[in-house]
Amino acid sequence: MERLQKVIAHAGIASRRKAEELIVEGRVKVNGKTVKELGIKVTPSDKVEVNGIPLEREEPVYFLLYKPRGVISSVNDDKGRKVVTDFFSEIVEARIYPIGRLDYDTSGLILLTNDGEFANIMMHPKGEIEKVYVAKVKGVPSREKLKLLERGVELEDGKTAPAKVKLLSLDKKKGTSIIELKIHEGRNRQVRRMFDAIGTPVMKLKRERYAFLNLSGLRPGEARELTAHEVKLLR
Ligand code: URA
Repeated sequence: MERLQKVIAHAGIASRRKAEELIVEGRVKVNGKTVKELGIKVTPSDKVEVNGIPLEREEPVYFLLYKPRGVISSVNDDKGRKVVTDFFSEIVEARIYPIGRLDYDTSGLILLTNDGEFANIMMHPKGEIEKVYVAKVKGVPSREKLKLLERGVELEDGKTAPAKVKLLSLDKKKGTSIIELKIHEGRNRQVRRMFDAIGTPVMKLKRERYAFLNLSGLRPGEARELTAHEVKLLR
């Protein structure tokens, strides 16, 4: 038995608060009857409709994928390129989708779920989840440039929040360096744009950590289920 608003939120239709509004507004039916009270609990066999549309209910599932480069962070691609859900198509029946995205050319850790409420929590800017990226960049940024990244650089959609930056290694002959960047934001192509802003463009990018989760034991293209404990800690 689960609370009605939680079931609606899990289906990804609305946040829990919005689900409560939908119920109070009389837009939710259980087994054909409009339900307006918030306390009610439903079983998996109860038929729930929102705005007249039946809710597809699935057990929530949570996966961590080591996304290889050359894969789209989506459930389908109009150009027919490989997508992150392709790695699950034969083993997972649930309709999962990625939480946030990694660029086509970025490898690394990405979570997938069918739990809309969980996905919303993970993507909410207030959650401040730390993400750790390792970038191979062209050139060797000066200490001042790295400090700039740490303090925040001006991008077209605003200044970036403070970050942690570590120069891991450099190859003087090739003129490249490997830099670790820890950020909490998740703007589109943010890491690439940050390095562009200081004049050392990214050649290769990998997300190594997401909150306390890392890629240990996985090779590119491999995935594992999150444990119930991990899901609880992330929420
Ligand atoms: N920042 C980027 O620029 N690309 C990613 O894939 C993730 C973060």
